[in-house]
Amino acid sequence: MRYSLDDTIAAISTPIGEGGIGIVRMSGPEALAILRRIFKRARGGSLASYRLHYGHIVDPRSGEVVDEVLASYMKAPHTYTRQDVVEINCHGGIIPLRRILELCLREGARLASPGEFTLRAFVNGRIDLAQAEAVLDIVRAKTEAGLRVALNQLEGRLSEEVRRLRARLVDVLAYLEASIDFPEDEIPARDLASDLEEARRGLEELLAHADRGLIYRQGIRTAIVGRPNVGKSSLLNALLRTSRAIVAPIPGTTRDTLEETLNLQGIPLVLVDTAGIVAETEDILTRLGIERSRKALAQADLALLVLDGSEPLSEADRQIAALVGEKAAILVINKLDLPQAIDEPDILTQAPRVRISALTGEGLEELERTIVEVVFSGQVLASEEPLVSNPRHKDALQRALEHVISAQEAHAQGLPADFLAIDLTSAVSALGEITGETVSEDLLEAIFSNFCVGK
Ligand code: GDP
Repeated sequence: MRYSLDDTIAAISTPIGEGGIGIVRMSGPEALAILRRIFKRARGGSLASYRLHYGHIVDPRSGEVVDEVLASYMKAPHTYTRQDVVEINCHGGIIPLRRILELCLREGARLASPGEFTLRAFVNGRIDLAQAEAVLDIVRAKTEAGLRVALNQLEGRLSEEVRRLRARLVDVLAYLEASIDFPEDEIPARDLASDLEEARRGLEELLAHADRGLIYRQGIRTAIVGRPNVGKSSLLNALLRTSRAIVAPIPGTTRDTLEETLNLQGIPLVLVDTAGIVAETEDILTRLGIERSRKALAQADLALLVLDGSEPLSEADRQIAALVGEKAAILVINKLDLPQAIDEPDILTQAPRVRISALTGEGLEELERTIVEVVFSGQVLASEEPLVSNPRHKDALQRALEHVISAQEAHAQGLPADFLAIDLTSAVSALGEITGETVSEDLLEAIFSNFCVGK
């Protein structure tokens, strides 16, 4: 580990800003001693574990009262990190939080790195890697469905399934190695074909729903495209009004785009280049509209191509439709409240089409239903199944599957056990990456650096 795991770390664990309360958290062997030095309990007496104690944080050097707080001490090992943990609930302003953190640091704690509390929980064996990642997903969940997927993962459903598959392969591997090392011994025969087939099916099942899981976690990147004045920004506003909650804007991946996420029946719809949509109303040049559409489409998984139903199909409409190409798309024929000039447009013939009026809201519900259908092919989330929602896990599962399939082929061709063993070793190791049994330090750092400080 690049950082020590048995010193005492401290961090502000609540978001920075003005809040009712804020929490400074410490974890490590010195946590209680440091608390004792800076905390004056109102009623005196000892700091019993798992209790909230009312009192004041007092600078031991100057005797100055820093804040009125509730402090708790949680004795190892039944804590988040499995170490002694101290939490100081103070007033939520940045000044008291900073000063209390500074006191903790001055008295011997070290400032925690991003995700270091959760990293300790992982390294000390309280949770596995997939569960640690779920903690981050819970913090970042964009919709309730996304939260459910993450909670499921935190509870260990995915890990359980992955471990079950891995244990099975380890078993087979042990058998293969025994038969390689002691060919002359009588080793009871094993039905390798069915072992491998079952492992393969288990992996395929997990992967089957991975794309849905990824959508719940990351959202589906959606571009609203069309020539100027067809009603793109009106549609955007209408969708923002009907969606149950607008999620905080995510910083765009490219600097000049603004992204907004809306919650569409549990699916986070990440609208790409909404800045472009708004700016374009001023834009008289269709050519620029096409350029914008091209850019937005390049980043999108789903396209909503908007047409003005009150005007005949134009050359610009066709050009933009051509840009959509094979991408998942919905043809949105807008301005249904006006006399219609478009009958059945002969563009994007594979895509579902919905007639709406962004002005009156007519047809919007059908559009939302259609989006859900296109995104999930009509399937909804069954809440209890383990769902792969992390691209890292999906990638590891895919590699495991490839190795199992290649072992199956080797077996079918009657190749020696060594060939199967090589593939199965790789499969076992790929599965171990998900739960963290086999994981490199670099990967750990990469994962935990995505956390915020204090988590
Ligand atoms: P954009 O350039 O594609 O973003 O189009 P806007 O959303 O700015 O809309 C262009 C014009 O069409 C505005 O005057 C809107 O009020 C109007 N508009 C948009 N949607 C509708 C609709 O459903 N019905 C009618 N009658 N007008 C609409």
